[in-house]
Amino acid sequence: MAAVKYEPVLTRGIPELDLLDINVYEANGGYQAMRKVFTGAGMTPQAVHEEVLKANLRGRGGAGFPTGKKWQFLPNDGRPRYLICNADESEPGTANNRVLLQWNPHQLIEGIILAAYAINAAKSFIYIRGEFWEGYKALVKAVAQAREKGYLGQNIMGSGFSQEIVVHRGAGAYICGEESALINSLEGRRGEPRLKPPFPAIVGLYGQPTCVNNVESLSCVTQIINRGADWFLSMGTPNNPGPKIYTISGRVKRPGNYELPMGVTLRELIYEWGGGMLDGRQFKCVQPGGGSAPILVDQHLDAPMDFDGMRGAGSMFGTGGLVVFDDTCNLAEYSQYLVNFFASESCGQCTPCREGTNWLNRLTQKMLGQGITEDEVKTMNTLPNTMSWAKFGTTICPLSDSSSGFILSAMKWFPEDFAPHIKKSTREEVRMA
Ligand code: SF4
Repeated sequence: MAAVKYEPVLTRGIPELDLLDINVYEANGGYQAMRKVFTGAGMTPQAVHEEVLKANLRGRGGAGFPTGKKWQFLPNDGRPRYLICNADESEPGTANNRVLLQWNPHQLIEGIILAAYAINAAKSFIYIRGEFWEGYKALVKAVAQAREKGYLGQNIMGSGFSQEIVVHRGAGAYICGEESALINSLEGRRGEPRLKPPFPAIVGLYGQPTCVNNVESLSCVTQIINRGADWFLSMGTPNNPGPKIYTISGRVKRPGNYELPMGVTLRELIYEWGGGMLDGRQFKCVQPGGGSAPILVDQHLDAPMDFDGMRGAGSMFGTGGLVVFDDTCNLAEYSQYLVNFFASESCGQCTPCREGTNWLNRLTQKMLGQGITEDEVKTMNTLPNTMSWAKFGTTICPLSDSSSGFILSAMKWFPEDFAPHIKKSTREEVRMA
């Protein structure tokens, strides 16, 4: 198996160049996309938008919705529009945004200015995860440098377009990665998802039309305008094009972030880029896409790691992270860790989520402690149905679904990890549960 040949673009110069210095960034091709748009023949906002549409850039935050199409949802009704960069990266097993925030903030700022120009945003915001202190410092410094150079502020490069970027730190809530919760938090309210409709494109920040895009998506916008949509479409598949930063973690020899074309296989990611299994142990399974994704096993290793490939294999692409497990890992224990995480992060607005995630948490704690009965196993299997946003719309956001994706798939593929914790039900145990 030969590793795919690819020259990194989004992560080019990391870590050898000091890209936090705007002069270094410019000396290496930085702010050229903006010059292309704002100087000489230039590009209209529509032309920038059309280039991103043509590239079929699918949002890298998890949902995979095309960024250019998302921009089309903003109404032309004369109200001010806002652009928000979602930098609240908190997904378990994912660190691709962090590397861009911390080591290449100007690429993101350039992408934000271009996107703001395309959608005619009055102002832009970066909502960064509170724990990303290094990324926050890098962004604040980069915004100040860009303003000093005239890339932010009034009449950028004489184009007549003006833009400001506000950098705002979150306060440690995973749910603020959900765009309407993020908007609430940015407004100074509790970070709770809003009931939709209306969607943020219609009623978003301060009640105005708002577009929320992910860090990696906006960084891709810079490169799409720099190199053209055809360059972007030259890798991956037409439905899953462009580069992607994959985060590989868990029981591999070389965990880390790897920028590669979309659609490389799980096998290549684990065995070529991740260096194979740690200590020569045997591969057991992989969780792609973040904490809510179902696991995949040996038979799925040749599936392309992209939106369609992961859906076809029965899981999800999500944020493009991979957590790799070997034969020493006990999935019952890891299930408890994830279930506990989602129970802690539920905002508590919806009864099915607030109660359901806590029931699941209590059941899995009991499972690892005194053990659970077969009836409780049945409860664990049926409980997610009553909590489902995707199937039944019983909750405001998908967090409740997220809590059971791992455990249900783990119980299906590796029942032997759970069997020692399950005992025959007696009438008394059922009553006590
Ligand atoms: Fe909050 Fe859970 Fe409802 Fe989402 S599903 S809004 S996290 S209670």
